[in-house]
Amino acid sequence: MDFALEQDQKDPLAHFRGRFHFPETKTGKPFIYFCGNSLGLQPDTAEQYIKEELDAWKKLGVDGHLKGKRPWLTYHELLTHYSAKLVGALDREVVVMNSLTVNLHLLMTSFYRPNGKRKKILIENNAFPSDRYAVQSQLKIHGNHPKEDLMILNPDQGETITTEWILDCFEHHGDEITMVFIGGVNYYSGQAFDMEAITKKAHEYNCLVGFDLAHGAGNLHLKLHDWGVDFAAWCGYKYLNGGPGAPSGVFIHERHLGKSDIPRFEGWWGHDKSTRFQMPDEFVPTTSAEAWQLSNPSIFSMAPLLASLELFHEAGIENLRKKSEKLTSYLEDLLENELEDEIEIITPKSIEDRGCQLSLRLKTVIPNIMDELHRQGILADWREPDVVRIAPVPLYNNFEDCYQFVQRMKKIVRG
Ligand SMILES: *Cc1c(COP(=O)(O)O)cnc(C)c1O
Repeated sequence: MDFALEQDQKDPLAHFRGRFHFPETKTGKPFIYFCGNSLGLQPDTAEQYIKEELDAWKKLGVDGHLKGKRPWLTYHELLTHYSAKLVGALDREVVVMNSLTVNLHLLMTSFYRPNGKRKKILIENNAFPSDRYAVQSQLKIHGNHPKEDLMILNPDQGETITTEWILDCFEHHGDEITMVFIGGVNYYSGQAFDMEAITKKAHEYNCLVGFDLAHGAGNLHLKLHDWGVDFAAWCGYKYLNGGPGAPSGVFIHERHLGKSDIPRFEGWWGHDKSTRFQMPDEFVPTTSAEAWQLSNPSIFSMAPLLASLELFHEAGIENLRKKSEKLTSYLEDLLENELEDEIEIITPKSIEDRGCQLSLRLKTVIPNIMDELHRQGILADWREPDVVRIAPVPLYNNFEDCYQFVQRMKKIVRG
C-alpha cells in the first residue's frame, strides 16, 4: 500500500483523475473503475461543452453554423488535430465521423478490392464480433465466401499470436490475401500487435492493411503514418471518453488521398469545401480523409469527445503510455504474487505486446462474479466463459486503485 501511495504522489499526471466523474457505490464511495476499455469516464468539461451547443442552437438557430463560439460548419475540424496526434498521423489523414462499424464498411468499400485469386481477408482469432460480421458481409457483397475466403490467424502460444507466426502466414498465403484487418489491440486477450512489422510484410505481398484501433487509440503510442498503415478506425467512447456511442475516428494514409480512382461512397460532406455550397452535380472529393465523410455530423455527440481530447492533448500520449506501462506492470506483479493459484493472466507478459488491459482467467468458477465485484465496489468487464477484463487507465486510474482491486479480489475468490 505504501508503495502505491508513494507512486501516486510522484505521478505527474495524478491531477487528471480529478477531471473525471467517477460512478459511486450505494454508500457514496467511488467505484474502482477498470472499465475504460468499454466506456470511458465523463470528463468534467463534457457537460459544459454540450450545453454550449444547446445554447448556441437556442440563441442562434441556423446562424450557429457560422456564428457560434465553435461554428458547427467546421466543428469536426476541432477534433482532427488532437485525434491525429493520438494515432501518429498527419492532420489530413484523419477525420472524426459516424460510428465505428459504419466506418469500417466505408473504409473496406475503398480498401477491400478482391482481384481473381487474391480475394482473402486476414483477421485475428477472437476478433470483435462486429469486425467479423463486417468483413464477412464485405466478402459476401463481392460474391466471395464468408468462411472460405476469411483467413483466421489462430494463436500459436497460449492466447497469443506471435509476430513470427503472422509473418510466416504471409510466406505461405501472401498471394491469396488481399486485405489484412486486425484489431491493433485484441479486445479479449489484450494483446497488442506489431503493426509496423505486419504492415511492412503485408506490403511486400501487395496486401492492403487496416487496423481496428477501438482498443488502441488513447491506449498505445501509435505511429500510423510512419508505419505506413493503409487505413484504421477507432471508437470515441472507450479509452477516448467521448460518451456512449461517441463518434469514431478514421485514418487513411496520405498515399491514398486525392485519388480519383478509389472506390468510395460519396456524400456532400466529402465534397470539396470551396464549392460544396454551390451544390454542383459532380462530386469533387476533398483531398483529405474528409473525402470519406457523407453527412453533416452530430454536434452534440462531438462536444464531449472534444472535451476529452483536450485532456489527452494536455497530458500527452507519450506520458500517458509511460505511466500506463508502470501501472499495468504493478497490477500484474500484485496479481502474480497474491493470486497466482486463483488467476491466470492471458494477456502477453511483455510490455510491447500489450496496452493497459489485463485479461484474467479464473481458475475456479465463482458464481455471480460480476455481482460480487460490484458489491466490492469494482466495475470491470466479464467475457464468457471465464475472463475478467480489467483496464487501469493512466488518465484517471492510480496505483492505489490497483492495490485495492487485488485486496478486494482476494476476498472474492477466497470467499
Ligand atoms: C468496441 C468495438 C466495436 C464496437 O463497434 P461500434 O460500431 O462502435 O458499436 C467494434 N470493434 C471493436 C474491435 C471494438 O472493440
